[in-house]
Amino acid sequence: MTQKVAFIGLGNMGGPMAKNLINEGFAVTVYDLNKDAMAELKAAGASIAAQATDAVTDADFVISMLPNGAIVKSLYIGNNKGNNGLISHLKKDVLVIDSSTIAADDARTVAKACEISGIAMIDAPVSGGTAAAQAGSLTFICGGEAEHYERAQPVLQAMGKNIFHAGTSGAGQVAKICNNMLLAIHMIGSAEALNMGAQQGLDPAVMSDIMKASSGNNWSLQVYNPYPGVMDNVPSSNGYQGGFMVDLMSKDLGLSQELAAKSQSATPLGALATQLYQIHQAAGQGGKDFSSILEMLQKN
Ligand code: NAD
Repeated sequence: MTQKVAFIGLGNMGGPMAKNLINEGFAVTVYDLNKDAMAELKAAGASIAAQATDAVTDADFVISMLPNGAIVKSLYIGNNKGNNGLISHLKKDVLVIDSSTIAADDARTVAKACEISGIAMIDAPVSGGTAAAQAGSLTFICGGEAEHYERAQPVLQAMGKNIFHAGTSGAGQVAKICNNMLLAIHMIGSAEALNMGAQQGLDPAVMSDIMKASSGNNWSLQVYNPYPGVMDNVPSSNGYQGGFMVDLMSKDLGLSQELAAKSQSATPLGALATQLYQIHQAAGQGGKDFSSILEMLQKN
């Protein structure tokens, strides 16, 4: 029998992820505050819902891909503005999969609220960016009970290539935040090195080839070069539009520093990366892709 998926949050990531589920034969009902995003999914074969509650009532899986923890908690648990949350509208045998990047504590709060109502939930944040979301090759980093993780496999495999079980509820978010702190650090480092080479008159494309074949090689250089014109199909060659917004990277770095304080872990480079992205965001660049940190270095 065709399995029904409710998909909430159709942004840069959620839109292409929902399209891949449709292409893999799931019956997908979508909801987003943005009507244009819903129209795009309708054209791709999704049913659209007028409210999030309408999308989930007969769903076998609910997937959310939303900007932050406050929104995720409000969606599932409700808020004090008369919204009582989705949990009370779900079938008992549904599996909730939240793929947003949020604090581990927020993920555990939602999972606990689900558990109290007899609903299964896993956190399953992703890595790989918009290109991987489109290609169906995302990495999913999951936290929750093994049984629920196993049940999620067909849905996650329709959208991703590498699927990990990091541990119990919230563990997916912890692993994801550690990864994104490292991502910010190597993106800034790559941008610094390319900018310094270019200011010395070197060609950033040649510099990139040299560093990719040397000990400075990293993901930012390999697949997400921050210097305009070095690679096709990356945000730096498209005015830093699309991709992974500075606003979202700033959020993730903020989460990394909360986690660092809580676990008494020294993360001095993470702290510096947080500050640099916050300065870049405060300068009005929050809507650009995070590789635009190169522009901030060029100005200073
Ligand atoms: P986005 O801002 O492009 O999309 C978020 C979508 O959620 C928007 O379409 C917005 O209208 C919708 N939305 C907001 N509040 C809503 C609500 N209450 N109900 C329904 N829809 C609502 O963000 P994105 O880039 O797609 O990122 C989504 C999540 O994925 C974030 O948590 C982000 O940190 C994470 N992430 C993003 C990337 C990336 O490369 N963009 C990579 C990995 C993880």
